[in-house]
Amino acid sequence: MIIPKGIQAGMIWMNGNWVEEADAKIHILTHSLHYSGAVFEGIKCYNGKIFKLKEHIERLFRSAESLFLSQHFSVEEISQICEEAVIKNNLKNAYIRPLIWRGSESMKMHSDILSTNIMVAGWASNRINDEESYNLTLSYWRRSHPTTMPIHAKSASMYNMMTIALIEAENTGFDDAILLDLAGNIAECTTTNIFFIKDNLLITPNTHNCIEGITRATVIEFAPRLGYTVIERDIKPDEIKGFDACFATGTAAGIRNIKSISYDDEKIVFDGADIVRKVQDKYSSIV
Ligand code: PMP
Repeated sequence: MIIPKGIQAGMIWMNGNWVEEADAKIHILTHSLHYSGAVFEGIKCYNGKIFKLKEHIERLFRSAESLFLSQHFSVEEISQICEEAVIKNNLKNAYIRPLIWRGSESMKMHSDILSTNIMVAGWASNRINDEESYNLTLSYWRRSHPTTMPIHAKSASMYNMMTIALIEAENTGFDDAILLDLAGNIAECTTTNIFFIKDNLLITPNTHNCIEGITRATVIEFAPRLGYTVIERDIKPDEIKGFDACFATGTAAGIRNIKSISYDDEKIVFDGADIVRKVQDKYSSIV
């Protein structure tokens, strides 16, 4: 069994039982591996305290519901399992990954005998904010339209597109990509929401076409205390050059400074690391 590099998951909770990482196995004909019907969460624990756990598990359940992945555990039960994953694995600063997926009882696209499975794994992770500044490009790919898939679900199928966009960005020398929506507005990056700063305004796309980020909501909540007025609106790429700074937000990334955005043979460079540092410091103090 090949174990993901740098990760020691220790004890993993699967369908009601704690098992050793090496024993947490599934069948190669698992439905979700072939047809991508899986949803998950990425949750962080700082100094033994899980940040916004309820919000994450509620989003997990909303994601599952939108893919007809029904299971009998409650938000409280899965939250409790996440807490136990931290304790059982002696974690202090950690990343926690719950996953819900369809089983291997049938290879039909849909069958009543297909099970819904759920697991929670946790491993050590010390970072709060990304230390690196990122250079972004605009992806050729557009964020799926709300009529093409349940776009607010943190689903494997959504991440397939994000993986393609990320590989293409990296292959052309960038750190990540911004995806536009079908109307040509900035939607989000491959694993983060995006914010722009102009004077005392914090401008971010509304959530019609992006993940309703929990970090995004945290920033929106504390922004007035940093003197910012938050505006959620459509943002066209042509506006980028008028902004003072840019940052991306996500549970794993924290607050990530964006150094540049390239599109149409133009590279827009931000000189906003100091401004973003204040947002990073505020986020660190909250988590
Ligand atoms: N957008 C995408 C595509 C993501 O994968 C993530 C990470 N979950 C986010 C935004 C940020 O969401 P959150 O702040 O809840 O981690």
